[in-house]
Amino acid sequence: MQPIVDGGPTAPRPLPAAPLTAWHHEDVPTTLAALTTTSDGLSDTVAAERRAQCGLNELHEQQTRRPLLMLLEQFTNVMVLILLAAALLSLFLDKQLEAGAIFAIVGLFALLGFFQEYRAERAIAALKRLSVPHVRAYRNGQLGELSARDLVPGDVILLEAGNLVPADLRIIESVNLRIQEAALTGESLPISKQSEALAQQAVPLAERRNMGYLGTTVSYGRGRAVVVATGMQTELGKIATMLQQVSHAPTPLQQRLDRVGKQLAVAGIVVALLILGLGLVMGESLGAMLLTAISVAVAVIPEGLPAVVTFTLALGGQRMLRRQALIRKLPAVETLGSVTIICSDKTGTLTENRMTVTRLVTTGTMVAQPNGLADHEQGLLLAAGVLCNDAELQPTSDSGAYRILGDPTEGALLVAAANAGLLKAELQQALPRVSELPFDSERKRMTTLHARGGAALDQRLAQVWGQTSFMPAAELLALTKGAVDGLLEVTSQVWVHGQAEVLDEAWRAKILAENSALASNGMRVLGIAFRPLPTETATELVERELIFLGLVAMIDPPRPEVAAAVATCRTAGIRPLMITGDHPLTASYIARELGITQDSMVVTGAELDQAGNAALPELVAHSNVFARVSPEHKLKIVAALRSQGHVVAMTGDGVNDAPALKQADIGVAMGITGTDVAREASDMVLRDDNFTTIVAAVEEGRVIYDNLRRFVKFAVAGNIGKVAVMLLWPLLISLSGLPSTTMVALLPLQLLWLNLMTDGLLGLSMGFEPAERSVMQRPPHRPSDGIFAGGMAWQTIWVGMVIGLLSLGAGGWYYWQGLSQWQTVMVTSLAFLQVFQALGTRSTSASLWSIGIFSNRVMWGIIVLVVGLQLLAIYTPLSIFLGMQALTLFDLLLCIGLGVLLLGAIEGAKALR
Ligand code: ATP
Repeated sequence: MQPIVDGGPTAPRPLPAAPLTAWHHEDVPTTLAALTTTSDGLSDTVAAERRAQCGLNELHEQQTRRPLLMLLEQFTNVMVLILLAAALLSLFLDKQLEAGAIFAIVGLFALLGFFQEYRAERAIAALKRLSVPHVRAYRNGQLGELSARDLVPGDVILLEAGNLVPADLRIIESVNLRIQEAALTGESLPISKQSEALAQQAVPLAERRNMGYLGTTVSYGRGRAVVVATGMQTELGKIATMLQQVSHAPTPLQQRLDRVGKQLAVAGIVVALLILGLGLVMGESLGAMLLTAISVAVAVIPEGLPAVVTFTLALGGQRMLRRQALIRKLPAVETLGSVTIICSDKTGTLTENRMTVTRLVTTGTMVAQPNGLADHEQGLLLAAGVLCNDAELQPTSDSGAYRILGDPTEGALLVAAANAGLLKAELQQALPRVSELPFDSERKRMTTLHARGGAALDQRLAQVWGQTSFMPAAELLALTKGAVDGLLEVTSQVWVHGQAEVLDEAWRAKILAENSALASNGMRVLGIAFRPLPTETATELVERELIFLGLVAMIDPPRPEVAAAVATCRTAGIRPLMITGDHPLTASYIARELGITQDSMVVTGAELDQAGNAALPELVAHSNVFARVSPEHKLKIVAALRSQGHVVAMTGDGVNDAPALKQADIGVAMGITGTDVAREASDMVLRDDNFTTIVAAVEEGRVIYDNLRRFVKFAVAGNIGKVAVMLLWPLLISLSGLPSTTMVALLPLQLLWLNLMTDGLLGLSMGFEPAERSVMQRPPHRPSDGIFAGGMAWQTIWVGMVIGLLSLGAGGWYYWQGLSQWQTVMVTSLAFLQVFQALGTRSTSASLWSIGIFSNRVMWGIIVLVVGLQLLAIYTPLSIFLGMQALTLFDLLLCIGLGVLLLGAIEGAKALR
């Protein structure tokens, strides 16, 4: 092993001054030397120095919105523009005070909008940072994990199928390594990679077979590579147009709310014209009426809407993160709320992914938990399982405890073998691996090719296996493990008591029956086979004419919390489906344990293939369990379900799952066991790989949708109330025959003031509303449903009318009494009415008492603020700006009393419903 390049703090360790650019043309030692590194990577100290020199390994996003720009954007909002027009008009009409106040309020709204958006943006950026892939790299001579952002030139990393290539790399070791470079070169087929230098210097990117480039993905095999360029120095970084762009496209809900906003704006203009006409007819001055009309238009529009939506979605994303669901695409937050089907993998998501070998079944005998090497055939079975294996057992303490690195299925084999005295290191010395055909979920098996370590080691083999005769003159030995059904298709003989027999129908039936018996008890079963190969054989010809050795069965217990989550899905109108590569009987057993299915109906991948496109919808409509499927079947299942109008969440972890994840409404990737490629394709990542987390995220999605509807209901009803006051006041005055000092109920500034407190502040607190108890006891909302679906339109209108009439009644009564504070009473009652309306809007069906009056603390904080602001507006010099007067205690109590009355009406209506 070469020393690590770390000569202490004073030693020179520069990055090459003039970095080589034709890395593909240099051989591995020259490359490593040029980068002042070794095949064991850098030390932390050197890496830190290089990072200081080259910066983090990330692309600068040109699209990131600068805060100043975000603030300026607030002033491009139509509603703000209308307000600014009103302010200019005031100036024109020589009302400096009003103009100044409107400017101040515009500024406040803009600031409020800015802060909400800024927080939202930061929350989204934080979520994005969490999605940065981790890389397996050598530092200080040790293999460890680090964030791809921390890579520097000279780092040596490991690559395996499913990894994103995290920087520009020179390959230094390749085992069937293939990289999919379509994103960079347009070449759709994966390119085989090797480590030898290329003779030519001028070679296009697409043909540099010993390089890997940022932005591409490893589709097969594994390898080792040294980082030659990071961040903006990479080929991808140099192509500005290909930079990752942050998408600011609005989500479907945002679009729908935008439409609602526009409709309200139109309504506002119509109402404003009405008021203008009415005022003029009643003899008001054109100037005053113009200003009033503009203010009314503004009062109708819920200014806070866009900011509240962005903010609520981002806040929801953070809440989901706390429940282990990492949102990668913001629209997912709202789509989750309407999910009707969750398609889940079995292993690791529904089960614990903690495999334990419980049965070894050789062709001759069937013995319980292996204990010592009673039977050489068992030893042979285990040894083959250990050699055809990429996992490692890593000791965690001196007491003999260990941890499995790698695939749990393979780890279970290592543990069982170690318990029987067979250690991987020893076996590997005797039979070193020379090549391999990695596992993939289509073939559902893997094969390794081994050479003989030498005559001395043959003796050890003989001890273990009793004989080495199974590889008589063989140069090479192929070992295969995988799904039994598929394995038998490439097997022609059976190894019985040291002899190969023909695999006839009787044997086949016996093996399959044994396999079914194990699987129907929920066990995962692997078949193991071998083949002596006299000479080197093309890898694609290796997996045929194998000799069957036996079966290994392991249990993987269901996660204890999943059954409850499945039950929650049922009450929430969501159908959970299991889609697994495992045996149908294993799948069916686990699905029944978890309540995913009651019957034993299982559809297999083969049946999906036979069914054809016409019969597919029927199959997916009736079965909850799909077994022996490959990733392309997942794609078929998603497509069929979506064609039936379902909103589908689908989990996946492998490279080949990416298309299905993209096609699903919500692609869900695994945070622990998933590949980078699957994560890149997903909308959401489960940080704990747990099915329960999907259900939790769906619940949060529903809460967010509820809260946004709540805000719309609250804001629109409040605005209806204000418009009613403005429209009905002139009628009331002229019908009552009272002397008409003014036809204008509320001054423009008062309306703006009210909007600031209600839409701006109270509305915000709706985003903090905790889940309603019934949230997972009702069916999902249909994505096609409008915002006001389910009777909400009617509720909004009547609450709005009651608000308007109560305030109008109070103001009218004061006016009739000749009391000058009539207008202040109307403004204050509207403010207090909306405070109580906010409390009543907290739940659609449950009473305020049952959900806990104080359970939304943020709302109470904001209520205190709003009441405080209103008191300031009445009792401080602010009142001069707002045209208000001091109220008596009785006046205040009256305003509060009206609010209580409204709350009573809202709660009464809930009780009636
Ligand atoms: P899911 O998470 O979708 O339930 P799965 O683990 O059931 O996935 P795969 O990992 O594709 O599905 O495994 C399918 C089959 O492939 C298993 O039933 C097993 O027979 C075989 N298999 C799994 N892992 C390995 C492995 N490491 N080596 C060889 N064969 C394997």
